Amino acid sequence: MALIVQKFGGSSVGTLDRIHHVASRIIETKQSGHHVVVVVSAMQGETDRLIRLAQTLTNEPHPREYDVLVSTGEQVSMALLAMALQAKSIPARSFTGHQIGIMTDETHTKARILNVKTETIQKTLNDGFVVIVAGFQGINKHGDITTLGRGGSDTTAVALAAALKADECQIYTDVEGVYTTDPHLLPEASLLPQISFEEMLEMSSLGAKVLQMRSVELASKHNLPIRVLSTFSKHPGTLVTFEDKIMQKRLVSGIAFSREESLIALSAVPNRAGIEGQILGKISDAQIEIDMIAQNASDQDKTDFTFTVQRKDFPKALKIVETLAAELGALSPKTNPKVAKLSLVGIGMRSHAGVASNMFRALGNANINIQMITTSEIKISVVIDEDSLERGVRAVHEAFGLDKLSVETHQDFMET
Ligand code: ADP
Ligand code: ASP
Ligand code: MG
Repeated sequence: MALIVQKFGGSSVGTLDRIHHVASRIIETKQSGHHVVVVVSAMQGETDRLIRLAQTLTNEPHPREYDVLVSTGEQVSMALLAMALQAKSIPARSFTGHQIGIMTDETHTKARILNVKTETIQKTLNDGFVVIVAGFQGINKHGDITTLGRGGSDTTAVALAAALKADECQIYTDVEGVYTTDPHLLPEASLLPQISFEEMLEMSSLGAKVLQMRSVELASKHNLPIRVLSTFSKHPGTLVTFEDKIMQKRLVSGIAFSREESLIALSAVPNRAGIEGQILGKISDAQIEIDMIAQNASDQDKTDFTFTVQRKDFPKALKIVETLAAELGALSPKTNPKVAKLSLVGIGMRSHAGVASNMFRALGNANINIQMITTSEIKISVVIDEDSLERGVRAVHEAFGLDKLSVETHQDFMET
């Protein structure tokens, strides 16, 4: 008897009709003779609503109470789904992270799973029930509820699949799998039948929210392929797996983007050892995460420094940098509060030159100004005005033929 872990995201359980539909899908799996462990997210919009409630009450909600609050959305959907299954005469039981024993570290609001207990699940499965577990939540060693960061139900599903040594981990969502870019931005995006862990990790960390980054990390660590597929169709979706299992080699696999970024540029900073640490240290001391950084010497004594932060942190970061600029005798900072990061991802880049120049040419032809660039072995990221994002994604997508991926074109790419 195979054991299948199925995770249903917020839009899949967004209404009672959809919960009924999810129940029917679970029943199909169960009736094919499998054990089913289900992970659910909160109903669509619910986690956002809870966060807004907390923020309306106070600017700085206490992290422990924030987690108590935002974890409640999943408890609602797990109980409703259990009831929907029971209404169809399928025995089902729902459990919170605490009841199962999803143990995390102590970092509230973005905790890491340390260990998952399996006894309760195993026993309940053996008694013939469908087991439903609340995603996104766990418990720390003090017995406090923790949450796993936005999109964390994906990670709950992978952690359970790994702990239970499941035969399959299926992530059901509102699109048919992983596409070459967000199909809600670009309807011509192509569905990828397979993608490597490494590429998926980059896509997730660079803004493609279809899988939480930690879920990809964890799956790869446990040698556990993940299938991403739609709750609303029968398409087999995308298998996230090892590079050597990928049938169709591609030069690039996709474009990820993140909108909510801001850019701050400091110029004429004294060029001396340790200056970078001094500037960035002040920013990280304020708990602000820096994303991209670039530095270039304008002359021997002076250097220019540009970096990006999440837009919500921009006012705070700017204040710090303005004070620093005055202290260091630098020019007052230049800013662009509304930028976006567009990233091209592909393992084929390792062995093929010319990807960056093609990408920059496509953006240039679309008259889009690149404000910053960073690269790594399998990705190229650029910062552009947020207003140009959609045009930029379309231009790069077209330049690499991602809108018409087929087996032939994959092969053509590798031969060029
Ligand atoms: P769920 O509620 O099921 O967890 P999410 O909203 O977290 O769903 O993730 C699914 C969404 O991810 C899609 O609706 C899509 O807009 C977005 N997305 C971004 N990039 C991609 C991509 N490359 N492929 C598929 N979906 C993507
Ligand atoms: N409900 C949580 C969120 O909206 C977790 C998830 O959906 O994965 O982020
Ligand atoms: Mg999600």
